Amino acid sequence: MKQKKEPDQKKIAALVKSLLRELGEDPERDGLKKTPERVAKSLVFLTRGYRQNVKAVVNGAYFSTGTNNMVILKDIELYSMCEHHMLPFYGKCAIGYISQGKVLGVSKLARIVDMYARRLQIQERMTEEIANSVMDETGAEGVGVVIRARHLCMAMRGVEKQNSEMVTSSVLGSFRSDEKVRHEFLSLAGV
Ligand SMILES: [Zn+2]
Repeated sequence: MKQKKEPDQKKIAALVKSLLRELGEDPERDGLKKTPERVAKSLVFLTRGYRQNVKAVVNGAYFSTGTNNMVILKDIELYSMCEHHMLPFYGKCAIGYISQGKVLGVSKLARIVDMYARRLQIQERMTEEIANSVMDETGAEGVGVVIRARHLCMAMRGVEKQNSEMVTSSVLGSFRSDEKVRHEFLSLAGV
């Protein structure tokens, strides 16, 4: 994705102000006076993944390893917003891969997750994007990603069961072709 310029916070604040008015609120009342600016600031932060790219996030933080065992990082917290309602969804992500000599620093995996989470998303696509990035960056033999998340657009609007969780997975390379590898990943990832 092309690097995008910083959004204009003043413009966003003005839009939020007319949104509040349209919703029947008085944006000039005390409690709401600073709300448009706050919302603008928070939206810019929550979408900063648009202005990041994997290369810059990873920043060459690789290690070499002689072994090719499975590496798993699980319970990576994620907070994102669904692109259909712009409401939060949040949960946990597990990433596993079998390297071919190139291993990523653990914190970098979490930062890749963050980068994709801070965009308007659908969970399925985000899961694939993370898997593809880890594959591209490490040249791994196989990659697996599982995300479990709760969507507030379901819970708050009462369309689905309030406590339902959505589980998505993406498996590439040997994680896709080799059933034993896939099972090892899924059991270690606690899915
Ligand atoms: Zn939604």
